[in-house]
Amino acid sequence: MDCVRLGSRVAGEALRRRVIEKAEALRTGGVNISLRFRSTGPIYMVTCCARPSRAGHNAGRESGRDAERDVTDGIAMRRSLADAAAGTILNEVEQAMAIESLNQRGPSLTADEKADVCQRALRLLAEAAEKPTHEELAQRIYDYLLEADTLILEGFLQFRLRDYMISISLCARESLLSHLADREHREFVKLLRMFVESQESREDVVHVLRGIDGAYELVSDDGSRIQGQLVDAVVADLVDEGVDPADLLVSALISVAPARIVVHFISDQDTLDTLESVFQGRVEKCHGAGCSIAGCERALVSTSVVTAITTQEGEPLEPIH
Ligand SMILES: [Zn+2]
Repeated sequence: MDCVRLGSRVAGEALRRRVIEKAEALRTGGVNISLRFRSTGPIYMVTCCARPSRAGHNAGRESGRDAERDVTDGIAMRRSLADAAAGTILNEVEQAMAIESLNQRGPSLTADEKADVCQRALRLLAEAAEKPTHEELAQRIYDYLLEADTLILEGFLQFRLRDYMISISLCARESLLSHLADREHREFVKLLRMFVESQESREDVVHVLRGIDGAYELVSDDGSRIQGQLVDAVVADLVDEGVDPADLLVSALISVAPARIVVHFISDQDTLDTLESVFQGRVEKCHGAGCSIAGCERALVSTSVVTAITTQEGEPLEPIH
């Protein structure tokens, strides 16, 4: 009998399911397939055999045809098993390896967090150049199965797809680090919000402008610049190399403790989100038109839009020659 064995440590169930599907299809196509399943230590093994066509009952010309048939059956079986193995590696084994890698890296994530981090890692992996396509992988496994009759999926990954294996681990690491940075940021924002809520407002309204150099400026209703030891001291405390101007803005605003904040610059969403999450319910965007605060970017934009429309409409038609 022509037999091939596939095994997996982390995705035995999925391998079994995929092989059973392939075996059904082979049987429908007239290949006489038998399957056996067993666990050998931590490895779940699936043995798949193609039975000889006539089991040697015929002789002469018939047996020649049977031998040919046995060869094509063996090829069909290996193609199908390679396909099942490739599917299992690219889906279940990859995911299980990403989770193992996350578990090894230690920090205690909740089950939900782990699922999130894992999904993020898999999205990164989908873009990774080291990840083979299903067709490439199925072909490599098929070639292997022409030479050998036993294949352990994790071993194949480890020794024949080393770059892919490393890439799984790197994507898990990258995803974990960005998750931890996000979590730290959320916790920091929460802390700031609690602080802001506990503070008594020292200014009623603070208008936020942005200078040409990208630095933010706080002015009060009459247009005078709000500054002072407190703003500068807090900013100086928090300044490290590479501090984001948006973080400086948040800390400056915290030290001023305004009841209302009016944003007069065109903000990116991240800065606005941070402001809104720290100063919940206190942030508003200037509407632009009619704004009397000098240096308002929103007023500039709304004026230039109005001017552009007026100019377009007011332009005399060119005579057609
Ligand atoms: Zn404005």
